[in-house]
Amino acid sequence: GERHSLWDCWKVMTENMSEFEQVVNKAREAFRSGRTLDVEFRKKQLKALQCMYNENEDAICAALAKDLRKPRQESILLELNLLKDDLRYMLARIDDWVKPEKIKTNLVTMFDSPMIYHDPYGVVLVMGAWNYPLQLPLLPVSGAIAAGNVVIIKPSEVSPATAQLLADIVPKYLDNDCYKVVCGGVAETTELLKQRFDYIFYTGSPQVGKIVREAANKHLTPTTLELGGKSPLYIDDTVNFDLAVRRIIWGKCINVGQTCIAPDYVLCTRQVQDKFVEKAKEILKEWYGDDPKASPDLCRIISDKHFQRISEYLKDGTVAVGGVVDREERYISPTILVDVSPKSKVMTDEIFGPILPIVNVDSAYDAINFITERDPPLCAYLFTTDSKVRESFVKDVLTGSMCINDCVVQLGLHDLPFGGIGTSGMGAYHGRASYDTFTHRKSCLIRNYNKVAEQIGKMRFPPYNEKNTKL
Ligand code: NAD
Repeated sequence: GERHSLWDCWKVMTENMSEFEQVVNKAREAFRSGRTLDVEFRKKQLKALQCMYNENEDAICAALAKDLRKPRQESILLELNLLKDDLRYMLARIDDWVKPEKIKTNLVTMFDSPMIYHDPYGVVLVMGAWNYPLQLPLLPVSGAIAAGNVVIIKPSEVSPATAQLLADIVPKYLDNDCYKVVCGGVAETTELLKQRFDYIFYTGSPQVGKIVREAANKHLTPTTLELGGKSPLYIDDTVNFDLAVRRIIWGKCINVGQTCIAPDYVLCTRQVQDKFVEKAKEILKEWYGDDPKASPDLCRIISDKHFQRISEYLKDGTVAVGGVVDREERYISPTILVDVSPKSKVMTDEIFGPILPIVNVDSAYDAINFITERDPPLCAYLFTTDSKVRESFVKDVLTGSMCINDCVVQLGLHDLPFGGIGTSGMGAYHGRASYDTFTHRKSCLIRNYNKVAEQIGKMRFPPYNEKNTKL
C-alpha cells in the first residue's frame, strides 16, 4: 500500500478541516501563548480600538448610512460615542478590576490566604445583530479583551456594509492572532457554531438564541444571550406631557423602531391616549415636517422581509398618525395605532419598526397585570410622578431593566448592567458587567504550615473521634 509521511497526513487533515475549525484552532493557539494574560497587552488593544473609532468615523458613518440610511447624529450618539465612552471607562478602571480579590478568613483558615483570581475563559465568540451593526458586535468585545480572552467576532450579514467594514478595519488595529472577524450568513453561522468555544455572547432574536444555546450545549459552553421581546410602556396623566411624549417618540423613532429597547407599545387610559395622540402629532410634524419621508432624520427598514412584516401590522388597528409606506424605499412613517386588540399580531410579535400601538387600560394596576401576564421584557418603561405607582411598578414588574420617565437612555450609564430575563435573555454587559461576564473568578485557598492553627486542623484526620465533629 501507499505510505504517507507525517507531513502528508497533516496536510490531508487540515484540508478536510473546515475553515472555521482552523480559525478557532489558531485562536486557541494564540490564547495558549499567554499573550492576552498581560494587562498591558489588553490595554494596548483597547487603545487600538479607540484609534479605530477615531480614525474611521466617516467610513463607519457611511457604512451605517448604506445599511440603514442611519443619520450621522444617530451613528455618533448611539454607536460610536457609546463605544468610545465604554473604552474610556474601562481603561480608567482595568488595573483595579484585574487585581486578585483578597477574601476574609474564618476560624479554621485564620492564618491562610484565600484569594479569587480572575481568569479569562479563552476563545470567545461574539455574534452581533444588524440593527446597531457597529455597536452590538463590538461593545462586548472590549469586555472580552479587558478580561484577557481572544475573540472571534461575527457581525450580522443582514447589515453587509458594516460587516465588510469591520472585516476590513479590525485587522488593521487589533492583534491579528488574538482577534478575528469572520463573516457569513446562516450556513456559515451553522458551521461556526459547531466549533468548541469557551464562551459565546449572542445578540439577536429569541428564536436564533435557542439555536445558539443548543449548539453551545454540545460543548457545555457558557453563553450570554441578549435577546428581545415587547418592551411595554405605561403613561399616566401626572407627567409633563410635552416632555414625556418627546422622549417616547424619540425612543420609538431612532433607527425607525429597530431598537431592541425601543418602547414596543403603550398602555394608558382612554383620556391619556387622546392627549398622547395630539401631542405626538404635533411633535412628529415639528421634527420630520409634513412629509416625514423627505426628512433626512429617519432611517429605513433593513430588508424587504422586515418591511413586509411590519407593513402588515398597519391592518391591526386604526391609524391615528402616519401609516404611510413606500416599498421601493423600504420606508414606513412613524405611526400610532389605536383600537388595537391585545390578540392581534402587532400585540403578539415584537414590532421592531416605527409602529406604536396603544392599548387602553383603566389604571396602573391593570397595566402591571397586562405586563406580568406576558413574557418578561428586555425593558419596561413607566411615565409617572406618582410615587405609589412607581413603587408598585418597580416591585411587581419582572423585566431585564427599567427606565422611569424616559426611554433608551438608560443604556448610556455604564454602571447599569444591560441584559434580559427569561425570553429576553440571560446575562448582562456594559462597563464592569462586561468585564465580569468574560471573567472566570477562580477561587484559591493558600494554606499555611502554622503549628497553632494545625491544633484545630489535625482534628479532621483519622482515627476518627466523634468528639472532633462537635467543635
Ligand atoms: P436574528 O436572531 O434573526 O439573527 C441574528 C444572526 O443569527 C444572523 O446574523 C444570522 O446569521 C444568524 N442566524 C439566523 N438564523 C440562523 C440559524 N438558523 N442558524 C444559525 N444562525 C442563524 O436576529 P436579528 O434579526 O438580527 O435581530 C433582531 C432581534 O434581536 C430582535 O428580537 C431584537 O430585540 C434583538 N436584539 C436584542 C438586542 C439586545 O441587546 N438585547 C440588541 C439588538 C437586537
